[in-house]
Amino acid sequence: RNEIGKLSWQIDEVDDLLGGGIETQSITEVYGEFGSGKSQVTHQMAVNVQLPKEVGGLHGSSMFIDSEDTFRPERIDDMVRGLPDDVIDATLEDREIEGSAGDEAAVDELVDDILDKIHVAKAFNSNHQMLLAEKAQELASEHEESEYPIRLLAVDSLTAHFRAEYVGRGQLADRQQKLNKHLHDLDKVGNLYNAAVIVTNQVASNPDSYFGDPTQPIGGNILGHKSTFRMYLRKSKGDKRIVRLVDAPNLADGEAVMRVQDGGLKP
Ligand code: ADP
Repeated sequence: RNEIGKLSWQIDEVDDLLGGGIETQSITEVYGEFGSGKSQVTHQMAVNVQLPKEVGGLHGSSMFIDSEDTFRPERIDDMVRGLPDDVIDATLEDREIEGSAGDEAAVDELVDDILDKIHVAKAFNSNHQMLLAEKAQELASEHEESEYPIRLLAVDSLTAHFRAEYVGRGQLADRQQKLNKHLHDLDKVGNLYNAAVIVTNQVASNPDSYFGDPTQPIGGNILGHKSTFRMYLRKSKGDKRIVRLVDAPNLADGEAVMRVQDGGLKP
């Protein structure tokens, strides 16, 4: 069994909360209301995973399963350019790209190289999304011995198709069963190929609209037993977001602050 890797958010406060970053061989569920920054997190991780290990990356590539048409190459571009200069310098050197952070041609080349290593797959419905999780295993297998093995599998959003297709109480059990199978397949990729798995899950913006704990996703804690790490995002003033770690094994619950800016997620 491979040693568990830690993927840095490039935000000390959040990394401290997680004991270094999100873990490989685990599912991390990022949940929160619309606009809380869930997609931004998945984009940022698709960048961060590619960074050299000495600056908190995993020197890997990623697969991005996109169910709501949220993937934006322009955001990846912004986020690469928004990395701290020392991180850009280390990454350029690692990829043997001539130049430094201030060098436009070098950074352009880096952006292209990073975009090339994000394998985006659009999921048209829940069945297709489940199929893509199986494809992810093939992709990870193909890249296993490559210079940039798959170290991140991101699913944004995990639940949207399932929610839209399985409506009404009569279909809850069926939905749950499908989701469990899907999560099992995602988990398998993470475990077999030492990849981090990050999934997003939207919760209602009006806490009064559901019963029980307002921080729980609609339909209850459907992923509770599968996602080892659960992170709740909530909006604060302006670009500020609060990240809360919920019920993680061996880690204290706690909160950290981050900002969603043009250059990506920032302290
Ligand atoms: P979610 O996936 O949780 O619905 P997103 O990840 O799409 O939310 O986050 C959307 C928020 O991210 C926007 O409300 C905005 O505040 C911020 N955002 C998106 N793009 C940019 C950008 N280029 N510059 C600054 N902030 C941005």
